[in-house]
Amino acid sequence: MKNIKHSWAEPYKIKMVELLKMTSPSQRKKAMKEAGFNTFLLKSEDVYIDLLTDSGTSAMSDRQWAGMMMGDEAYAGSRNFYHLEEVVKDVYGYKYLIPTHQGRGAENILSKILIKKGDIIPGNMYFTTTRLHQELAGGKFEDIIIDEAHDSENEFSFKGNVDIEKLEKLIKKHGASKIPYVSIATSVNMAGGQPISIKNLKEVRAVTKKHGIRIIHDMTRVAENAFFIQQKEKGFSNKSIKSIVKEICSYTDGATMSAKKDALVNIGGFLAVNDWDVFEEARNMVVVYEGLHTYGGLAGRDMEAMAIGIGESVSDEHIKARVGQVIYLGEKMIEYGVPIVKPIGGHGIFVDAKKFLPHIPQDLFPAQTLASEIYLDSGVRTMERGVVSAGRKANGDNYYPKLELVRFTIPRRVYTQAHMDVIAESAASVYERRNKIKGLKMVYEPKYLRFFQARFEQL
Ligand SMILES: *Cc1c(COP(=O)(O)O)cnc(C)c1O
Repeated sequence: MKNIKHSWAEPYKIKMVELLKMTSPSQRKKAMKEAGFNTFLLKSEDVYIDLLTDSGTSAMSDRQWAGMMMGDEAYAGSRNFYHLEEVVKDVYGYKYLIPTHQGRGAENILSKILIKKGDIIPGNMYFTTTRLHQELAGGKFEDIIIDEAHDSENEFSFKGNVDIEKLEKLIKKHGASKIPYVSIATSVNMAGGQPISIKNLKEVRAVTKKHGIRIIHDMTRVAENAFFIQQKEKGFSNKSIKSIVKEICSYTDGATMSAKKDALVNIGGFLAVNDWDVFEEARNMVVVYEGLHTYGGLAGRDMEAMAIGIGESVSDEHIKARVGQVIYLGEKMIEYGVPIVKPIGGHGIFVDAKKFLPHIPQDLFPAQTLASEIYLDSGVRTMERGVVSAGRKANGDNYYPKLELVRFTIPRRVYTQAHMDVIAESAASVYERRNKIKGLKMVYEPKYLRFFQARFEQL
């Protein structure tokens, strides 16, 4: 009796189901070819298990759906806006709220307000849309994440941490006046969903405070980060996710949020700040790009679902099952010998394509190749996070990121444990025949965020 395992299980039951289409190998071959070997260009109808992203793909609760019916679709001053404002203040602690249609809407407005031409924006690893908005505003991103984050084998618990020495060097080199803010992401997406510790965040706060530099928080996955702090950081095991989330936010001056992730909605985001002057300018600018400052491109019902989703996202039971499912999948893959980024992150499994396909050089897009092979094998859709996603520098050269990954992103509350088994088995069977796999050639390349629309041919 002593060795009985106590498993986690979903803190919800299923009320409605969506039927999936099963495909044959020949159907998948045709679909992949038509999509130019880019999983972003597949029709969702041709996909069995969709792990392209955890963005906007969550299942809403019955309470959120009930909230959708409570939409106050007034052009100005919707009741749902005030509800959302209250929740953002209560859960995250930021003073002023500007809703936007999604995260990049907030990034655009914030970058335009705070960044001047020639500015430097240090951050714990780049994110595609975040860096692009910083560059379009005239700034330059500088990576200050710890070196461990670039090593897929390193098992350090907080690979999202900032290297304080790198930050201090940048401030010394450029001067604080050239640094409008430090960009801090929680659950660093491009590093594999790796968390930053409270201890490190406090150190960043101390350095920036000394120089009068703001911290802007990319809080897209702050609740998942809080879970790792609760599990792994000394002194936090008895604290609730809600209190850890609030503590994280308290060390920052403002945030951009893609509510399509943590906050359990299909569309939405916001900019939140503590500084009245920044708020005033943002409130004015949002009218140009998104909509009036009390809806920012969203319907009243969307803001209501977001307000309720934020509350659900910081429940201990929710986050334990959410990350528990991701860890379950990761451990299965490890059992099969599939090389993945360790430790397992919060929102998905990142397979190391350089290790999986060591015979394919980065110029032949190993991660892009692997994502297409997984789809061909099982109809599971994943995506590339490597040289294609990294794009080109201002001078036209490719960025060659150290990490060449395929992301298996898990939507929240959507798939079951049996789906996780099927996914791991597919990765394992492609791994078994890895030596026969050849790379891809890029035949079409769009100018911005090329990974979304680039097309390839098999070699
Ligand atoms: C998704 C995401 C964004 C951008 O948000 P969108 O809602 O897709 O515009 C910004 N930062 C991170 C870390 C993200 O994962």
